Amino acid sequence: MITAHRHFTRVAAGLIASVSLVACGGISQQQEVELGAQQAQQVNAQLPMLQDPTINAYVNSLGNQLARTTSRADLDWHFAVVNTDVINAFALPGGYIYVNRGVLQQASNESELASVLAHEIEHVVRRHSVKQMEQVNNANIGVALACTLTNVCNNQVTQAAIQVGGSAYFAKNSRADEVQADEGGFSTMIRAGIDPHGMLTFFQKLLAEEQRSGGGNASSWFADHPGTEDRISDIQRLLNQDAGQLRGLRTDSQAFQSMKRRLAQLPPAPRSQGE
Ligand code: ZN
Repeated sequence: MITAHRHFTRVAAGLIASVSLVACGGISQQQEVELGAQQAQQVNAQLPMLQDPTINAYVNSLGNQLARTTSRADLDWHFAVVNTDVINAFALPGGYIYVNRGVLQQASNESELASVLAHEIEHVVRRHSVKQMEQVNNANIGVALACTLTNVCNNQVTQAAIQVGGSAYFAKNSRADEVQADEGGFSTMIRAGIDPHGMLTFFQKLLAEEQRSGGGNASSWFADHPGTEDRISDIQRLLNQDAGQLRGLRTDSQAFQSMKRRLAQLPPAPRSQGE
């Protein structure tokens, strides 16, 4: 735990150092990308990353299929897998998307995995975390940004480090942001030719897991993605409304199923600190 504390302090210091980027006015796309790249470097150094080239190639290919249909197709999108069973995903500014191994393990088909990626992509498309940074511009910026990005102010430091799911690294999204990310992600999936039913079935699965085990590996998801029950109704409404558009879209792929087989053969994820 002491190690986690020390690492975490270094991450927070790094984030404070990057504050000069946002000191005056809005954040340009170039600044956003630089900020995201800096944070990604820290995340990659601090979190246990899954280093399997085949699985990484698949996740990047699927992520890029989705991202290139969005209004921010010009960004250089990066997708990476964090080697933890905790079910979660997060996005950094500028197009850096992280999905935990736990999501890959829970997902039964490509549509379910794509729904998580499309949701996170939409947070970047809508610049949710960037907007939060712009809002704290006039406050005591060093402290405020570090708090927004790391939760260092309202969490036990060690607790934040335990949440390998990533909430330690990025802004908390509001319920409104979450609904936007779902709805935008839903449309992204359709544009990419993927049936968005996976968004419904994946959320239902997480909710069932939460109700059965009082959270377990899914509790981190619920902490970072508020309002899941309302969001399920919203997605159900979209599915009914767009039913005509969904015929012929794919739900699964051979690439997804071979990723699953490969994943099952890898050594298990390291236990999270504090487990
Ligand atoms: Zn979200």
